[in-house]
Amino acid sequence: MKRQFKQIILGAILALLFIGCSKAPVTGRSQLIMVSPQQEMALGFESAKEVLKKEKVSQDPQQNGMVKRVGERIAKVATANYPIAKNFTWEFFVIDNSKEANAFCLPGGKVFVYNGIFKYISNDDELATVMSHEIGHALARHGAERMSRGQLQQTGAEILNAVMQGRGNPQNTAMVMQAFGIGTQLGVMLPHSRVQEYEADAIGLVLMAKAGYNPQSAITFWEKFAKAGQTPPEYLSTHPAPTNRIAKLKAMLPQVMPIYQANKR
Ligand SMILES: [Zn+2]
Repeated sequence: MKRQFKQIILGAILALLFIGCSKAPVTGRSQLIMVSPQQEMALGFESAKEVLKKEKVSQDPQQNGMVKRVGERIAKVATANYPIAKNFTWEFFVIDNSKEANAFCLPGGKVFVYNGIFKYISNDDELATVMSHEIGHALARHGAERMSRGQLQQTGAEILNAVMQGRGNPQNTAMVMQAFGIGTQLGVMLPHSRVQEYEADAIGLVLMAKAGYNPQSAITFWEKFAKAGQTPPEYLSTHPAPTNRIAKLKAMLPQVMPIYQANKR
């Protein structure tokens, strides 16, 4: 009995070590993540189903073509370079809601772009800015990281179990979706931290450069976006001030332009 107990404790500690220690891509920041990639992906797929139930998928051939074309190139780079994306099943959707200048990528690779964002996008490179940033959040497991701390900490495990066993109540589901950056009517705020935002920017720049998209387009996109007074393209972000964001992106350009030069088509 005593030995069994010890084994259980040891197992639990190993599981925590295994799940708990993680490093974000590009920045190498240490992260505390208590949700396994499998759990996170399962929740991502559940959330994708919810989104598709609630939102209207656009059939616009031009916008769908653009999102798929750009998304597939970025996804290819993500899958080849980041182990977390190895088991992603990528899929790209345009949501018909011109009021929302918004986009997000769920763990597991389901990417949604609201067609309101096209007001600020004049070419594939600018769309690549948005999609790389969102995919960056997923590669860095920002949703899982958020589930592992803060308001979800006490209830995180229960919520995970309930949602994964199909017993999720609307409130639980809403909390999971918020962790992934999808807005709901619920009053709970779980913003992407500023650290996560800058990290998604950094990962995004590298991704787009590797996929052969010009990282300078990140500057033109964010300048247009900021000028229009828009908030960052996912709900509930703690918006870094646009000028800070643009300055940080500019500072990264010397690092990523050679990558772009080597991969441009
Ligand atoms: Zn973001």
